[in-house]
Amino acid sequence: MKLNHTEAWSECLTIIRNEINDKSFSTWFSPIKAVKLENNVLTIQVPTKMSYEWLEDKYIIQLKKAILAVLGSKGRLEYILPIETPYAKSKKLNKNINPFAIPGIKKVKIDSNLNVNYKFENYIQGDCNKMARSAGVAISKKPGRTPFNPMIIYGGVGLGKTHLAHAIGNEIKRMHPNHNILYTTPEEFTNQIVNSIRNDTMNDLVKSYRNIDTLILDDIQFLGGRSKSLEMLFNIFNEFHQNGKQLIITSDRQPKDLEGMEDRLISRFKWGLVADLQTPEFETRMAIIEDKLKEEDIEFPSAVKEYICYNIKNNIRELEGVCTSIIARATLSDREVNIELAKETIQKFVTFSDKKISIENIKHVVANHFHLDINLLDSKSRKRDIVNARQVSMYLARNFTKQSYGSIGAYFGGKDHSTVMYSIRQVKNQLDVDEIFREKINTLEKEVQFTLEN
Ligand code: ADP
Ligand code: MG
Repeated sequence: MKLNHTEAWSECLTIIRNEINDKSFSTWFSPIKAVKLENNVLTIQVPTKMSYEWLEDKYIIQLKKAILAVLGSKGRLEYILPIETPYAKSKKLNKNINPFAIPGIKKVKIDSNLNVNYKFENYIQGDCNKMARSAGVAISKKPGRTPFNPMIIYGGVGLGKTHLAHAIGNEIKRMHPNHNILYTTPEEFTNQIVNSIRNDTMNDLVKSYRNIDTLILDDIQFLGGRSKSLEMLFNIFNEFHQNGKQLIITSDRQPKDLEGMEDRLISRFKWGLVADLQTPEFETRMAIIEDKLKEEDIEFPSAVKEYICYNIKNNIRELEGVCTSIIARATLSDREVNIELAKETIQKFVTFSDKKISIENIKHVVANHFHLDINLLDSKSRKRDIVNARQVSMYLARNFTKQSYGSIGAYFGGKDHSTVMYSIRQVKNQLDVDEIFREKINTLEKEVQFTLEN
């Protein structure tokens, strides 16, 4: 029996639906209309040119598979775009195109997304952050008009990157009330771009960035490998630089160590200031604790404060977490704040962060999770579920251990560096578009950490 175009496409959709998550499916595939089927060529109409590029970029494998299954080996797919009617055009012009605009305000005023609790006043200065902090203060006085543009703040987890970035933003706002500031994360940044591709409003998005005077992008390392986002960032960079606008970027590693980042972008980061945050010295840790306790209107005995500072050295978030936890335990179980209580509390924290996570351990967790024999991860098998588990293991190994691609490959039956790199890229691509997959990875990350505790 011969299928008509609608039936053929609907069979393709059934196959594709099984391969990708619901959200991606409804975003990218639901708007497509089948137009005709002639000589094994199925023509579909996609809403925009960008959505066509996105489909080709992200879903080519699924599309090929479906066409092959439904139309046979001679099957082909062709795309067409809708003809733009005058009506469609005028409708588009009327859309509220600036995603940051607060409705009802005449001058484009954007919602800056800043956390007002992160200020310079509660950002304790120490040798560990002196340069970054004073550069931040200088930028707040003259955003875009200091040599510190872009400003790249880098430092390990919990060392105060996000706090400092917000503090600069809040201070700019205080000193320059008409200045438009936007704080954003890779997640939001990418989402906006995906949406603008879907709605064919890329130009509008680019334009809305022109209304911003200072852009803060937190945790740029997560943009690695997201080519469209990086391209956009590159354009923003150039535009900002030419127009004396301020760009502030944070990163958990030095620019040269950022993966999946374009060289042209990295080289531009050097045009400004790269400032690092070191682990805080004893005195700074002490000052941070004291400030924190003052805010909570609570006092700890000096010996307890010192005990905490001696034991928590590498992460200010943890330092704060321990204090909060001690306060909670003392209040809830009506206990005295003493070294004993501090010791118990810290033990809980430290087991978690100081133990080393090994690649073998990661392989165990992943194999278990996918109900696979662990040896299959080292094999050359191309079976889908094995490939998937292997790629996920490599991804986790890279994130948790920061080992080189080559040495990770050695743990998987001697795979080479490019295989590992490719695998990790695959996982990242899927993370970009697949919410369910993101949750799965999230769970695995927790499992990897929890298996440490015994
Ligand atoms: P990162 O973004 O580098 O992971 P955060 O900026 O989120 O770290 O900082 C972690 C926690 O430590 C936050 O609660 C922040 O307020 C606090 N913190 C970091 N640096 C300082 C500092 N110099 N003074 C006071 N608190 C700090
Ligand atoms: Mg942060």
